[in-house]
Amino acid sequence: MKCVKCGKEYEAGAHYCSHCGAMTAEGELSLALTDFAKAAKQLVKQTVKIGDKHLKEIKPDINKAIKQVVEAGNEMKNASKPAAKTGLEAARTALQLAAQAAENMAAQLRKASEKR
Ligand SMILES: [Zn+2]
Repeated sequence: MKCVKCGKEYEAGAHYCSHCGAMTAEGELSLALTDFAKAAKQLVKQTVKIGDKHLKEIKPDINKAIKQVVEAGNEMKNASKPAAKTGLEAARTALQLAAQAAENMAAQLRKASEKR
């Protein structure tokens, strides 16, 4: 793999370039994955917390949103295999999808709670 900053070869899988110390594509992807895992965990936690009150009426929406998040995560996992620029692009897309899914769910939760 070639470093995007200094252009020298670095060891495949390294998170930082051994020549200039810049973060590699793999490093960025790893960070994105960590952030995503954190966000997904937070999302589930929030869902359980808010969902307690309105769980019955919005359960299908929650399930749909969670499914979307899981799918986005899988997409990222696949994208990380050939850890290259295209992988990073796919990871960004997946993160956007996950964020969108979370937003949709939040909107559904808001709607459900307004009914009361
Ligand atoms: Zn470098």
